Amino acid sequence: MSEDKGLPKRIGAPLTIAVIGGGIGGLTAALSLRRVGFEVDVYEQAPELTQIGGGINMGPNAVRILRRLGLAAGLDREGVRPLFTHQRRWRDGRTLQQAPLNPLCEELYGAPHMTLHRADLLDVIASGFPVERIHLGHRLVGLEDKGHSTEAWFENGMRITADVLVGADGIHSAVRSALSGEEAPVFAGCVAYRGLVPAERIADLGLEVGNQSWVGPGAHLVHYPVSRGRLLNFVGWTEHDSWNREDWTDRATVARALAAFEGWHSQVRRIIAAADTCFIWALFDRDPLPRWSVGRTTLLGDACHPMYPFMGQGAAMAIEDGAALAACLLAAGDADPAEALRHYERLRLPRVTRLQTMSRANKTRFHMPDGPTQQVRDAEWARAADRSPDALRWLYAFDAGAVEPVLA
Ligand SMILES: Cc1cc2nc3c(=O)[nH]c(=O)nc-3n(C[C@H](O)[C@H](O)[C@H](O)COP(=O)(O)OP(=O)(O)OC[C@H]3O[C@@H](n4cnc5c(N)ncnc54)[C@H](O)[C@@H]3O)c2cc1C
Repeated sequence: MSEDKGLPKRIGAPLTIAVIGGGIGGLTAALSLRRVGFEVDVYEQAPELTQIGGGINMGPNAVRILRRLGLAAGLDREGVRPLFTHQRRWRDGRTLQQAPLNPLCEELYGAPHMTLHRADLLDVIASGFPVERIHLGHRLVGLEDKGHSTEAWFENGMRITADVLVGADGIHSAVRSALSGEEAPVFAGCVAYRGLVPAERIADLGLEVGNQSWVGPGAHLVHYPVSRGRLLNFVGWTEHDSWNREDWTDRATVARALAAFEGWHSQVRRIIAAADTCFIWALFDRDPLPRWSVGRTTLLGDACHPMYPFMGQGAAMAIEDGAALAACLLAAGDADPAEALRHYERLRLPRVTRLQTMSRANKTRFHMPDGPTQQVRDAEWARAADRSPDALRWLYAFDAGAVEPVLA
């Protein structure tokens, strides 16, 4: 059964669209664009489609889009539906806030909140797109806007021309550099220890199917089930002044992670200790960009609005970008695609900037030292749980594919 019955289709000669980057953002955008009738090719630098890291949260705002793209069965097969979200104090485990997630999200927002292994999610998305239109081993090194088309060239010597080019090539985006000049992202002062634990190793903890996050001075740790509940994913964030990859490579050990969470609740330490291995991830950031589109080239996802992962919405925003971009280009009909790209950018900027700002603020809120300010925060969370699906209506109910007419 086709699940895209509601998606309108473009009539007339299809635009050709080159998507640079085959991550979650690029592949979903490619699928969104193809589903409404454009001719889409994806160019990915890596020799295979891969995702670094373990788990990912998909809010209902993103799951709804993925389902509309025909991916419901794959998501149900691979994903977990956490029953609740629970925030706790770092040392004694006291509850700061707890709210139901599923089935409430489905009832309120027409889609569940899900947690998945990143590789599974990427496989599910890729399964909806023709494999022959994903060009692996293509690292973009340059591009030129020709007015009526965009030309791009790759490290392997290939050159292409497309009506529209979309840079979905992540935080170190080469497309972004070509549009607005080289500017290195800034180290955000946070490093994460990430790991996956087989569920049977921690069965004695009796964890329910849910998202838990533990907040404490200068650090926080999040854990949730992935891979149909076979694995527990954890990410433990700690603050540091500087990052130097060479200095840090040998610190990616379970012992180092345990040392970073010394004195934390026994559940946190048991989970870390049960991992065979963990790896280090440094957080980088950029200030919000004033514009993303130049002529027939635009950006999406981390290429234009990387954000701290402290709202769990970076990939969700990339998925929304793809839906909005497809809707804007479709609505433009035979009009100049450059105008549709500017419209897309105007629609998306306020929402992603809001999330970038909130995610940054959460670093401070999650990492407060114990004391009066932390007590005020705790009281606030107890009074009004800000993670509950009700409180996040503005985020979860939003339909990124519903586009207003282009304003002149
Ligand atoms: C620890 C952590 C936890 C997170 N948790 C969540 C979460 O729970 N929920 C959520 O929604 N988000 C989360 N995020 C954010 C999310 O991972 C990112 O926002 C998302 O992956 C961005 O997707 P993207 O497709 O824009 O970029 P990327 O995933 O970076 O993909 C870019 C792709 O482009 C390719 N590429 C790069 N350069 C070139 C080039 N020159 N030519 C061709 N290809 C190129 C890369 O190889 C890659 O495949 C988290 C992030 C971190 C670090």
